[in-house]
Amino acid sequence: MNRREFIESSAAAAGATMFGWVESTQAQPSTVPVGIQVGAVSFVDEGTDKVLEALGELASINTLFLATFTYGRGIGGRQPRGNPLPDHGKQEYDDDYHGGNFATPHPRYYKNTSIAPQKAPDHPDYDVIADVLPRAHKRGMKVICWYEDVFRKDVPGLDKAFEVDVHGRAVARVCYRNPNTLNFWLGLTEDYLRSYPVDGLMFGSERQGPLNNALGASHGGGPGTAGCFCTHCLAAANREGINAERARRGYLALDQWIEGMKGGRRPVDGAFVTFWRILVEHPEVLAWERLWNEGLRDVYRAMYRKAHEIAPRKPMGWHIWHTNSFAPFYRAEQDYRAFSDYSDYLKVVMYHNCGGPRMARYIRNVNSTLFADLTPEQTTELTYRIQQYSGEATLDKLPTAGLTADYVRRETRRAVAGVGGNTRIWPGIEIDIPTGEKEKKTTPEDVYASVKATFEGGAHGIILSRKYSEMRLDNLRAAGRAIRESVKTASR
Ligand SMILES: [Zn+2]
Repeated sequence: MNRREFIESSAAAAGATMFGWVESTQAQPSTVPVGIQVGAVSFVDEGTDKVLEALGELASINTLFLATFTYGRGIGGRQPRGNPLPDHGKQEYDDDYHGGNFATPHPRYYKNTSIAPQKAPDHPDYDVIADVLPRAHKRGMKVICWYEDVFRKDVPGLDKAFEVDVHGRAVARVCYRNPNTLNFWLGLTEDYLRSYPVDGLMFGSERQGPLNNALGASHGGGPGTAGCFCTHCLAAANREGINAERARRGYLALDQWIEGMKGGRRPVDGAFVTFWRILVEHPEVLAWERLWNEGLRDVYRAMYRKAHEIAPRKPMGWHIWHTNSFAPFYRAEQDYRAFSDYSDYLKVVMYHNCGGPRMARYIRNVNSTLFADLTPEQTTELTYRIQQYSGEATLDKLPTAGLTADYVRRETRRAVAGVGGNTRIWPGIEIDIPTGEKEKKTTPEDVYASVKATFEGGAHGIILSRKYSEMRLDNLRAAGRAIRESVKTASR
């Protein structure tokens, strides 16, 4: 089988699914989902029809992932200050960005949650779904609501859903076992599906469990505080027969281990042996990590059930956080096969460009905790081996080199081979995600190579990320060239 035949056969396989809109027959080539994430501000700034026209022409986009709910800057708003504005859209920074629901929340769906369903005040008279959906449908484009677990701390009622950390303090992130959290996400899911004839849903949570948080095992800000020890989580532990007091003591021991190393006190037996000793003395630490993950997965399962009760043929999928590319600990918890029980598709994040600086940050983080016995360079080599990467840059070059298209190819292959059932893999491919001043920037050449690699890896679709309002047009055009060379698309 040559490459083209392989791509066409994987595209045909993608068509043989439950979704009426991803149909394919021998006579009629499949419509491979070619998606892009786009927020309200782009339509408001540039004009809806103009944006849709551009997306179709530049990159053969046939599926819009509308950022319908977030308080974050990752998928909402324009480029944050400090990053160059792209060559389209309003040439002004939106420092007063707020976020919320960019459609219209209907209060009847939020009766069983304390969390206020706030309409984003950024565009008070604008409903992104109501505006975009009819125009997109007219052009043969599908519309997916894209919502994520990113709140502002001051959302009314959010404090009634906060996690409780190992020290008994409330922390400003929602506990997935708290009914206010579950009912908020169920309400939003129902609201989108019943209020608008959208074509599907995507949800994302860029959070991880207490053990990974304690280790700082991500590209984020380093070791964090472990949770959750709220009454809902204590009750769940009790049902599972997990000794919460021993878990708490284990996390306190982890805390001391990390604080000690931060203060320059290397344990007598070294970092790793001491860590392992805490685990074998307090296996409840691992049990708590699993408990946390099950809390999140229960919410995914409930959202999936709710979505399919209302709209059995509309796909629901999940955004899989970039930490999956760096940390074997988080990766172990993202079992694609297990996901297939409650996923129609997975957007596995494979951001090649910012992946360089982010990988470097992950390595520095775990090098201060779990791998403190190694040098940063050894930690890099170990990480590449465990994550099954080869040919990536050494640590000193990583922030300016980025990750390669080969990383995208390997990650796509791994996902396609690992997932089960009819679940489709629609990798998230990066265009112009902000990086530091001296760090690697996206170029047309690397976008082109990464998009080609996505389809060479057997992807069933693609989602250009994170948001149109930060993408440069020459980079988007390069993605389009690679898309047209790789799959037969039909955007209208
Ligand atoms: Zn909790």
